[in-house]
Amino acid sequence: MLAAPHSRDELSALLERAEAEDRVVRAFGAGHSFTDTALTSGILVDTTKLNRVLDVDLANARVRVEGGARLHELNDTLYGLGLAFPNLGDIDVQSIAGATATATHGTGGKLQNLSAALHSVELMLADGSVVELDERTDPDGWRAARVNVGALGIVTAVTLQLVPAFVLEGVERPIPFDEVLAGLDDYVDSNDHFEFYMFAHSSTAMTKRNNRVDLHEQPRGKLTEWFADVVLNNYAFDVLTRLCRVQPKFIPPVQRFAASAGSYRRQVERSYRVFASPRLFRFTEMEYAVPREHAAEVIREIKEIGRHYDTPMPTEVRFVAPDDAFLSPVHNRESCYVAVHQVAGMEWRGYFGACEEVFNRYHGRPHWGKRHSQSAETLPALYPEWDRFLEVRRRLDPKGRFDNRYTNHIFGPIG
Ligand SMILES: Cc1cc2nc3c(=O)[nH]c(=O)nc-3n(C[C@H](O)[C@H](O)[C@H](O)COP(=O)(O)OP(=O)(O)OC[C@H]3O[C@@H](n4cnc5c(N)ncnc54)[C@H](O)[C@@H]3O)c2cc1C
Repeated sequence: MLAAPHSRDELSALLERAEAEDRVVRAFGAGHSFTDTALTSGILVDTTKLNRVLDVDLANARVRVEGGARLHELNDTLYGLGLAFPNLGDIDVQSIAGATATATHGTGGKLQNLSAALHSVELMLADGSVVELDERTDPDGWRAARVNVGALGIVTAVTLQLVPAFVLEGVERPIPFDEVLAGLDDYVDSNDHFEFYMFAHSSTAMTKRNNRVDLHEQPRGKLTEWFADVVLNNYAFDVLTRLCRVQPKFIPPVQRFAASAGSYRRQVERSYRVFASPRLFRFTEMEYAVPREHAAEVIREIKEIGRHYDTPMPTEVRFVAPDDAFLSPVHNRESCYVAVHQVAGMEWRGYFGACEEVFNRYHGRPHWGKRHSQSAETLPALYPEWDRFLEVRRRLDPKGRFDNRYTNHIFGPIG
């Protein structure tokens, strides 16, 4: 059953019904995860209507919003208040609760993932009661709730700790791959946000450096923006990937062309317009966070694997600072995220499996919203605080009302 409550009271009534009928419940935001993490055979709660701004505290740069609020709606509203997220990922369509539940991240050696922008989390539990979790009220509950994989209750509201709005200069340049790897630490440490894309069959990396600047924004014209972000980065690439799907022999030249053609750009705009851009074609993805000290070895191995499988898509490499949320893939370690992709409709299992063997060798931790084959048997060894998360899960959801097949697979049954 699908339900889209407009208010906390409607949500609480749904949970009462779930209790009476003994049905499980899952919430979803934008449904942008690549796994079945948000699915259920019970009651599926669409949080789209739970998207209001509840409170603004300008003195402390905090804003309280409902869990279903979408990042792109928030970005505009926050900008009007002179505030911004310190960092964002590649897209902005996710809900705040969905993005933080899976530890969605951007890039920046000194910057943490999105859940680090949470100051507190309000959860509605299975009996309809509401708890407010923060560092002070419930330290373990707080560290569990920030990256919760939807397994503790429904996030009805969060208070965000933001920063003053800022302008970024985004510079995209093709740079020889070997040069990027040789100077990797320098690139990461000397830029606020550094990332790159690499293609298995190209010796060029497409680098992207975003840095805070004391300049007025220079918005691109709507037509320029549409041509660069939609036509070139989406439609043109989509046409090329379709060609590769029919004729895999075109993959190496298409990759070489994309690596050299797609990557000259300078943008000076408000932060969120530089961080995020539209992704309009269909693909699937696996992403792991590996210890930053092994970044160069992992990147080399993943690039080499790509030469043996048919995929026109690039690999994306990003860097994230540690935090202390129990299930954060960057828990207590500086990390490099490596994301491999496959075009929808093309075989991904062999390629992703081969990459996962590399990630496993380096004790990689999977992104909770993307494909992986870890389970309740393998994950505890990767997360030092795994049992403390399970303890909070037992305390907040003792009957497993918010379980689904995915959480059972990764956490095992409650109890
Ligand atoms: C094109 C594309 C680009 C992406 N780019 C990035 C990127 O740059 N960086 C990155 O890290 N990830 C990225 N992702 C992954 C994406 O950010 C995550 O999968 C994120 O969780 C999606 O947010 P959502 O609102 O769609 O959540 P959903 O997919 O709807 O849900 C994710 C999880 O959160 C739970 N959940 C959702 N709402 C609630 C709630 N109110 N209460 C409790 N639980 C809830 C769901 O049950 C589920 O377990 C990308 C995905 C796509 C498709």
